[in-house]
Amino acid sequence: MTANLLDFDLDGLAVFCEQLGEKRFRATQLFRWIHQKGAQDFDAMSDLAKSLREKLKTSAHIAPLKPLSRHDSADGTVKWLFDVGAGDAVETVFIPSEERGTLCISSQAGCAVGCRFCSTGHQGFSRNLSSGEILSQLWFAEHTLRREFNTQERVISNVVMMGMGEPLQNYSALVPALRAMLDDHGYGLSRRRVTVSTSGVVPMIDRLGEDCPVALAVSLHAPNDALRDQLVPLNKKYPIAELMDACRRYLAHAPRDFITFEYCMLDGVNDQAEHAQALIDLVHSPRDPSKRIHAKFNLIPFNPFPESGLTRSNAETVHAFADALSKAGIVTTVRKTRGDDIDAACGQLAGDVKDRTQVQSRMAKHKVIPLTQVSV
Ligand code: SAH
Ligand code: SF4
Repeated sequence: MTANLLDFDLDGLAVFCEQLGEKRFRATQLFRWIHQKGAQDFDAMSDLAKSLREKLKTSAHIAPLKPLSRHDSADGTVKWLFDVGAGDAVETVFIPSEERGTLCISSQAGCAVGCRFCSTGHQGFSRNLSSGEILSQLWFAEHTLRREFNTQERVISNVVMMGMGEPLQNYSALVPALRAMLDDHGYGLSRRRVTVSTSGVVPMIDRLGEDCPVALAVSLHAPNDALRDQLVPLNKKYPIAELMDACRRYLAHAPRDFITFEYCMLDGVNDQAEHAQALIDLVHSPRDPSKRIHAKFNLIPFNPFPESGLTRSNAETVHAFADALSKAGIVTTVRKTRGDDIDAACGQLAGDVKDRTQVQSRMAKHKVIPLTQVSV
């Protein structure tokens, strides 16, 4: 088996080139060809010596994930479903706005955390994606969209690890992919524009702070352990107090001076005035001001699916909740739902696969109800 060069960050590629007897600057050239120019064919890499190109042909390949389907929303959102083998697929979503182009990337096929409100969680866990499978979602989207928009300019300015999977449960594959995103010879994204979203894998938050401190979003969803234990089962292992301590430690490394907390608004479950007040107390910590944490909240309208047994909070409730946090001085945004017409929200993918046999084999494996039955 030859090496898939999409698996490497620049340091990894330099080690690989060294094994071929090549200097580091050759690795830099190769890295730029792959990530900046989107090249897949070694013969196209005109400034690499012919001898190196020949060596690469026998020892390496550049193999991005293959798309199974693509859906374009009326609002410009694009969703791809990529085949990851064995009947599994992962989704990647491009969300354009006036100021930025954001790509939402998956880190695992399925997810082992099993959050109550998450369709990916209900599907169970299949496997970790490799670094190359994570990075190739960006490679594919960036170079496909550049061709379509007929531009040499960067199309994707922001990456959020908010697709399928828990990125911090696939740490060793995640970090090289993040490094390639940040590398000036790769995608040159600033640390502030790359966000890892986590359900709260405390030890890995600390490691990320040391190894690759990008922007952090923490999926909180509840202000107390009793409720969070039910919504995010990982809370039983890493309860809220430990998670908050990890957030405070992360702020010492973070590219931004705040942590974003995501909060999925579930009708009658976590959306009442007392929950808002408990959240305010959690981040302001009136009894121990040294534990105050600089936080922003992103309220996410729940994307319903039948097995969850949950419903979306109504708009007035969401606004009252946002108001309460804002009045307490916490910057709060309500996430706009984008790409609703193509089901572009987290984990809402199976209804889109063209090949029904693939869907059926995945459903049999994870006992999921077909999402075509979902009335959103
Ligand atoms: N596993 C990571 C990242 C992927 S999920 C995490 O949990 O943070 C990305 C975001 O989508 C999380 O904040 C998650 O809580 C949210 N999410 C999952 N299912 C959702 C749903 N059905 N409706 C709205 N948001 C959802
Ligand atoms: Fe996994 Fe995140 Fe979904 Fe929870 S919300 S099941 S951690 S993908």
